[in-house]
Amino acid sequence: MNQTIHTLLIANRGEIASRIIRTCKKMGIKSVAVFSEADRNAPFVKQADTAVFIGESSPNASYLDQDKIIDVAKKMGADAIHPGYGFLSENVSFAQRCETENILFVGPNAAAIDAMGSKAKAKSLMKEHKVPVVPGYQGSDQSVATLRQAANEIGYPVLLKATAGGGGKGMRIVHEEKEIESAIEAAKREALNAFGEDGLIVEKYIASGRHIEFQIFGDKHGNAIHILERECSIQRRYQKVIEESPSPIMGEKLRQKMGEAAVNAAKALSYDNAGTVEFILDDTTQDFYFLEVNTRLQVEHPVTEEITGLDLVQMQIESAQGLPLSISQNEVKGQGYAIECRLYAEDASNDFLPVTGTIERFEIPQVEGLRVETAIESGSEISIFYDPMIAKLIVWDQSRAAAHRKMQYVLKNLVCLGMTTNQDFLLHLLKHPKFLKGEYDTHFIQREMDLEGINVKEEKDIHLGAIAAVLFGWQQREQKRTLLKSIPSGWRNSFYDYQQEAFTFEDKEVVVKYRFLKDTFHFLIGENTYETKLISATSRKIRLELDGVQYTLDVKNKDHHFFVHHESMGNITLIEKERFPIKESEQVKGGYIAPMPSQIIKVLVESGQEVNAGEPLIILSSMKMENTIEAVEDGVVEEIYTEEGSSVEAGFLLLKVI
Ligand code: ADP
Repeated sequence: MNQTIHTLLIANRGEIASRIIRTCKKMGIKSVAVFSEADRNAPFVKQADTAVFIGESSPNASYLDQDKIIDVAKKMGADAIHPGYGFLSENVSFAQRCETENILFVGPNAAAIDAMGSKAKAKSLMKEHKVPVVPGYQGSDQSVATLRQAANEIGYPVLLKATAGGGGKGMRIVHEEKEIESAIEAAKREALNAFGEDGLIVEKYIASGRHIEFQIFGDKHGNAIHILERECSIQRRYQKVIEESPSPIMGEKLRQKMGEAAVNAAKALSYDNAGTVEFILDDTTQDFYFLEVNTRLQVEHPVTEEITGLDLVQMQIESAQGLPLSISQNEVKGQGYAIECRLYAEDASNDFLPVTGTIERFEIPQVEGLRVETAIESGSEISIFYDPMIAKLIVWDQSRAAAHRKMQYVLKNLVCLGMTTNQDFLLHLLKHPKFLKGEYDTHFIQREMDLEGINVKEEKDIHLGAIAAVLFGWQQREQKRTLLKSIPSGWRNSFYDYQQEAFTFEDKEVVVKYRFLKDTFHFLIGENTYETKLISATSRKIRLELDGVQYTLDVKNKDHHFFVHHESMGNITLIEKERFPIKESEQVKGGYIAPMPSQIIKVLVESGQEVNAGEPLIILSSMKMENTIEAVEDGVVEEIYTEEGSSVEAGFLLLKVI
């Protein structure tokens, strides 16, 4: 029986919630978001037609709380729940609960989820259905003796995996027999801690393997198809960072064989929604083996959507409603090439540890063929509670080379300021000659990449960043000063003195000396000199000309930090140390100087005239803003060094009051 969904509750958060809401709008389905304390101001909450608070930030108190979610679904009259990925998406009891409550679960039937919930059960079932599995042991006898014997028979190296495992947790490579006992014990402990049960499977370790997965789809009428492959071998900590389709090593023959195996897996499960069959392909033999079925929509599903033009969320909703699949296997066609990069708040040079904090600025470059899935906007927090993924960047183009070029451009131009991310790392990876040739396996990052060197910046880039920071700070002070007109800035005796600012950049001190002559800032940084013109400035960007080349840099200044971005150098963060003019002791008492390059509009006083504090002395115009210099204390004008209509540099001594 078909059932039409009118109201859909999304039991998830972040980018995937936004993604599902988008399809809801397209289909005319009312969307209900649920949100935790930490997500109260998140974009997906605003995008949904209705949003309901469900609890504290910790997932157990909100996105994993089945009672609360079911309760909201009923109150809001939701006839279906989409679980997204993670959280409750592969939770058998939740899928069953939805069924009992008469709410459609937008995912496969509970039995299919259950069958794939254990790696041991999944492998046994697949073996029965002639889907090739990695040689190994997945029996119920979990004694050390049996596991050791299994490992010896398979031959080292072997991989121990938790039967209940997921997300790469609880996996352990064992290279020789003498390590096996302690490895089993450690893996069991880890599994028990992470998943509450300590069952293990033992597998032959594929030393050079590629992770290739097939998108599968089924309906409630027994139809099952595959929607081509995604290559996901670029991983760190057994977790994907880049996915592409088609796989660079895929030929039509292999695709057909693997696709068939994927459809067999789907049929073995009476699969009736979106899923992914993961395989590992042995690089040396080209043999492929089943790893697992993910019974949900994957993070990387946009790659498949981009090459097929299909909307997988829409297909999920249609399958859940009981509609037959709208396409047959023969109609599935991939066109062109798509790649996805996952932008994470993590430090590649520090073992990819997640980073928390505020994304001070997030700006996506306008590029045709770029799709960005994100839950972030400027000011968003990356909190300790959730996955540190900031955005998924997906590009499509006719060929792999064209798409890679485009992705490099996107990674260079994306502005994400405020914290450490893997943006530079992704760019390095994308430029790697072996990656470009498609010659990689699941160990590529560890083996091929110089992770220490990822965030290392060249001196010229640090200097460009520092120049931008100085000019941005200078311009900010000037604006503030214009608002508080009575405080002239930069009391120096003569305009040719250098000002000095000091920053730290990654433990190193960067001392910047500069002065302004005519229309040019002269910078001295270390042994280097730079001639710079300030072309324009806003509160977010600064455009400058450095040795004849113009640059627009993004700058964010917060708590003595200058976050600077330019496509040529990536992100540079400078911490302000101190600001002081060099020859402070030599300031001219009673001297008034031009705070910035200006034109003299009006001289309001004459030599010998008595003035009172606060009285206007000279009106200047600079960068289209008028500025009045006022007397800071009572006195007599001793001398005036300028006249109406003339142009003066910043620091020019205008007059003296004694
Ligand atoms: P999880 O469920 O924790 O994600 P998987 O079984 O899907 O675990 O494996 C995750 C990753 O671990 C794979 O993408 C692959 O890189 C690696 N892997 C898994 N099994 C093997 C194996 N037998 N040999 C080599 N690498 C493997």
